Amino acid sequence: PNELQLRLICARRITALHLKIERQQEELERLNRSYYEDGRIDQLTGIGNRRMMEEDLDRIHAQVVRYGHRYAVVLFDIDYFKKYNDTCGHPAGDETLRAVAAALKAGGRKGDVIYHYGGEEFLALLPGQNEATGLVAAERLRQQVEAMMLPHPGKTPPGMVTVSGGIASHGGDEDKSATEIIERADRSLYRAKESGRNQVKAWSQLSNGNEDE
Ligand code: GH3
Ligand code: MG
Ligand code: MG
Repeated sequence: PNELQLRLICARRITALHLKIERQQEELERLNRSYYEDGRIDQLTGIGNRRMMEEDLDRIHAQVVRYGHRYAVVLFDIDYFKKYNDTCGHPAGDETLRAVAAALKAGGRKGDVIYHYGGEEFLALLPGQNEATGLVAAERLRQQVEAMMLPHPGKTPPGMVTVSGGIASHGGDEDKSATEIIERADRSLYRAKESGRNQVKAWSQLSNGNEDE
């Protein structure tokens, strides 16, 4: 009986030790996950940040170039956001940034990803889309923001919070870097702003789709 008791004590200790190690392992995995996300999730809006975007875009760009698929990127920028901050205050501006991020995210289809590009700008990565199909998706995202009907009293005349967008795509066969595709989207965004805001412009719609545009 003595030996049996001793063995039972040992077995209990070993089981307790195993449980402890298991719990430490879980805690370590949880910490690893949060460290990973801290570096790639934007703290304000809760969506992927620029770092995550660059990593995802590099991966998708490499696949597209290798296998001849395609992708589109849309750059969105909130219209007259400085005036929004000026009239509603910075904390309300932050709240609106969160709302716009959520609306863009909600409007996306499976596989589409929205990133916080910086400031009041967002980037939508649309795998498998060309400019024409991506434009339909981008227009839906733009409408999603407009449909929130968030008042923007800083506009003249006062109106609602809206975004402008610029889209460009990579067809797999071009010798263009991901950065060049984003630059094209940026130039298209500029044109959308110039044309009155609250709309999406595509790169090939710029006059002649010209590089010097
Ligand atoms: P446009 O329609 O041409 O885009 O005009 P805009 O006023 O939106 O553009 P501008 O680039 O002049 O101003 C962007 C503003 O976005 C300036 C800044 O106050 C605001 N902003 C940028 N980041 C943040 C943020 O994290 N929080 C808040 N509340 N505002 C921000
Ligand atoms: Mg901007
Ligand atoms: Mg803006």
